[in-house]
Order: sequence, then C-alpha cells, then structure tokens
Amino acid sequence: MSIPARFGPYGGRYVPETVIPALDELTAAYESLRDDSAFRSRLDDLLKNFVGRPTPLYFTERLSASLGGPRIYLKREDLCHTGAHKINNTIGQLLLAKQMGKTRVIAETGAGQHGVATAAAAALFGIPCAIYMGEKDIGRQELNVVRMKLLGAEVIPVSSGSRTLKDAMNDAIRDWVTNVENTYYVIGSVAGPAPYPAIVRELQSVIGREAHAQIQEAEGRLPTELIACVGGGSNAMGLFAPFLDNEDIRLTGVEAGGEGLDTGKHGASIERGQRGVLHGSLSYVLQDAYGQILEAHSISAGLDYPGVGPEHSFLHDQGRVRYDSVTDAEALSAFTMLSETEGIIPALESAHAIAYLVKHIDRFTGEDLIIVNLSGRGDKDVYQAARALELL
Ligand SMILES: *Cc1c(COP(=O)(O)O)cnc(C)c1O
Repeated sequence: MSIPARFGPYGGRYVPETVIPALDELTAAYESLRDDSAFRSRLDDLLKNFVGRPTPLYFTERLSASLGGPRIYLKREDLCHTGAHKINNTIGQLLLAKQMGKTRVIAETGAGQHGVATAAAAALFGIPCAIYMGEKDIGRQELNVVRMKLLGAEVIPVSSGSRTLKDAMNDAIRDWVTNVENTYYVIGSVAGPAPYPAIVRELQSVIGREAHAQIQEAEGRLPTELIACVGGGSNAMGLFAPFLDNEDIRLTGVEAGGEGLDTGKHGASIERGQRGVLHGSLSYVLQDAYGQILEAHSISAGLDYPGVGPEHSFLHDQGRVRYDSVTDAEALSAFTMLSETEGIIPALESAHAIAYLVKHIDRFTGEDLIIVNLSGRGDKDVYQAARALELL
C-alpha cells in the first residue's frame, strides 16, 4: 500500500523544488523497507533492547480513586530511553537513513527533546549529526544542549528572527536544500512535507498497537476514550492510529492553552489557527494576517509549536478527534497532582492530557475506561516547575 501525501486537503509538499527528488527517494525507500523482514526485525530489536519497549500500560489506582469516576490507565512512554516517545521515531528514521546510504543527518529542535532523540539514534548508527536550535532555546534548555553534545552531535545556534524553533526549522531546510545528496533530514513530529507525516505516524503507532493489546489483556474490553497532548501531534497520532476506525472510541487531543486563548500567548493551532503553510505542509497554523508565522507559547517547550500535523487538521474537520486546550496553570497543577498521587513526575506536555481529564471529570462515569498517553517524563521540567511553584 502506498503512503498518503494528503489528508483531505492538508499535507502536501510546499518546499523548494530542489528537494522534491529527495522526498521521492525517501517515499520509495520507505515503501519498500516497511515490509522488508530484515528491516522490520532490526527495528523491532532496537525498539525492544535500545528503547525499552513494550512500555507498560499502568493502572492508576490512587488517581482513579481520587477523581472518583473512570478507570484511568497511563501509557508509559516516559519510560522510553531518553525519556519520551520521540525515540520511537528517530530510531526508525535513522535506520532508514542508514539503509538509504546517507552519511549525515540533520534536525531542528525547540526544547531539545527531538534533538536528543536524534543525537542518540545517530550515535547508535555512527552517523554524524547536526542539530539546529534557536539561540533563545539554547539559553533556556541547557540540559538538552549538553546531552546532545555528549551524544556527539554538533549543535548549530540559529540567530535569525525570534531565535526559536521556527527559525531553526528554516535553517535546517536551507541546509537540506544545499546538502540533499548525502544528508537525511530527521523530522520530529507528524509534520513536514509528504511523506514525513505518514512515516512518523507509522513509526509512532507502536504506542497504540501495544496499548490496544494491553488494555484488552488487563480489562477484557477496549477503552472508551484516549487522551493525548498535541504539539505537532506525533504521540497523539501514535496512540490514536490503531483505534481510528472504531468510532465508538472517543479520541481527544489537548493543545497548549498557554496563558489563555484570548491572550494570544498559547499554542492552540487547531482552535485558534487558520489554514496555512508551515514546515512544508498545509495545515492549521498560528499566523498573522499576511501568513507570517506567529510564535507559540506554552509552559511546556514541546507544545510550543505554531502548527500541527496535517492529519490532525483533517481529523478535526471530520470531527473524528476532538481538540481542546488547557492553560499553563491547569497543566502545572496536574503535574503536581500526578507526582503526588502516583509517584510519577510527568513531562509538562503530558501533564496537559492529565489536566484535561481532571478539568472535565464530571463528564465521565464509572463505566468509562480511559488511556492517557504519558508522552514523557518530567525530569527536564523540574527547574521550570520549581520556579513556578516557588520550591527553591
Ligand atoms: C515533543 C514532545 C511532545 C509534543 O510532540 P508531539 O509530536 O505532539 O507528540 C509531547 N510530549 C513530550 C514529552 C515531548 O517531548
């Protein structure tokens, strides 16, 4: 089966013509390798022994009891190597790059999570790696900058524009256009020009396949609702994908409400964006009247992305997935709540998904069976939380 270039009207390839042959080459390589048994077994082996899969599906006894309604399970992507789901994708893409004979990989990163996951996978395969990162992000994400350097990656500071993720994205694409012959571009979410959104969705759908089997094993039935945070949308797409055809299962994506949707300081691309082009594809995007990209804001750096993957825009228009948002303050209080009731410090991104559940708990009954995607662990966020909660 060939992989889709569009999801309804969304997606496509809004990129310089010089990279189209490379996108065609990637499409062809992926379409042949995804069903290749040697490729599959190498990927499965790395997911098991390097990443640590399958991740547990964990029943929250105290959280469920304290909320008094549904049975709540957490899909523990926080237990993946490097601390989040992102490694599921970078391992797959690096394996592709290796098979395609590429001798260099590049990526951009905002918070540094995708940069770290790319650097780790590049080290594993012995491929040189350059990570573009805005100077402002370098200043506020020291821990991940050091991790990338320790993993042998070159971190290239980006000083143009707002010196954040969107500027790093522009520079990474410029590098790719120049070095497309030998360089593989690792995209970190279900975003970018086709075929990336479809490839990243498939690589992350291991989350949903495991959860599908695990919940039936644990409960003898399928869940009533799945909840995941949405930045670019890869952890959500990965969890949702194997459940999409079952219309009885409610799917909820939670965007960053930041300081409130009416303050302009948020990352709610679906709720408050318009159709536009970002990162080489058509989707809902935070933009001004001229189509210039606006900066997103969120307490969680990983949701600080001014767009969303094209498939999410389509699923929103179709009404198959419902999108909502929670504020920084709501996420922070869910962050504390999960830490104290379950002994799990979640990533601030994942705390958005928990916060949605807490906020809307009255809508659920004892019959409900919920899976929340715990996309990452919160170690990277402890100083941010300490400042916000005045712990130090
Ligand atoms: C990057 C990141 C996200 C957001 O990215 P998606 O593509 O929307 O999944 C969410 N959670 C964590 C822990 C992250 O590192």
